[in-house]
Amino acid sequence: MVDWRLFEPLFNWARKKSLWIVSFCTGCGGIEMPPLMTSRYDIERFGIIPDPSPRQYDLFLITGYVTPKTLKRIIITYEMAPDPKWVLAHGSCPLNGGVYWDSYNAIKHLDKYIPVDVFIAGCMPRPEAVLDGIHKLMEMIESGEADGWKRYRENYEWYRKNQDELLGEGWREKEARKWIPWLMDKRKEVKE
Ligand code: SF4
Repeated sequence: MVDWRLFEPLFNWARKKSLWIVSFCTGCGGIEMPPLMTSRYDIERFGIIPDPSPRQYDLFLITGYVTPKTLKRIIITYEMAPDPKWVLAHGSCPLNGGVYWDSYNAIKHLDKYIPVDVFIAGCMPRPEAVLDGIHKLMEMIESGEADGWKRYRENYEWYRKNQDELLGEGWREKEARKWIPWLMDKRKEVKE
């Protein structure tokens, strides 16, 4: 029986060379995504490509402030991706609320709800800073230090408690059920 853990350094090297991004474009930082991915700063040369599928990414970019409504989608998108996966949050807002530190509707510490591997401070950070953060993350992936996905699994009860305190117990089911009347109406419309 092969012990695949022996190959982990090789896997980590390959993982860092082929990061696929799902970008949530939350907050103002979303506007820094296109320059990062086009000819001027060009992250494709590092093997990074954007991909809209929550099943096929391994790098989740949170690009600015997060509201409770968006956080629900972020948690679901995070949980849908297979391991290993990493979260990079840029802008001061996900770090500590930034300029929205006293807003009733902005998340102050994103890492209470999902594990963040690298934060990039700034309001908003320049693409060079984002590239620097991505490089840092690549180094951490190779050395095995980027372990947010393991932390999420090991401390799931703690994350779940924080999520439920903010969003209310059973929020996943309520979100899913919310669409049922709308879907039934659509079905009726199609039949008529
Ligand atoms: S850190 Fe600044 S630029 Fe980024 S989302 Fe917050 S207010 Fe906008």
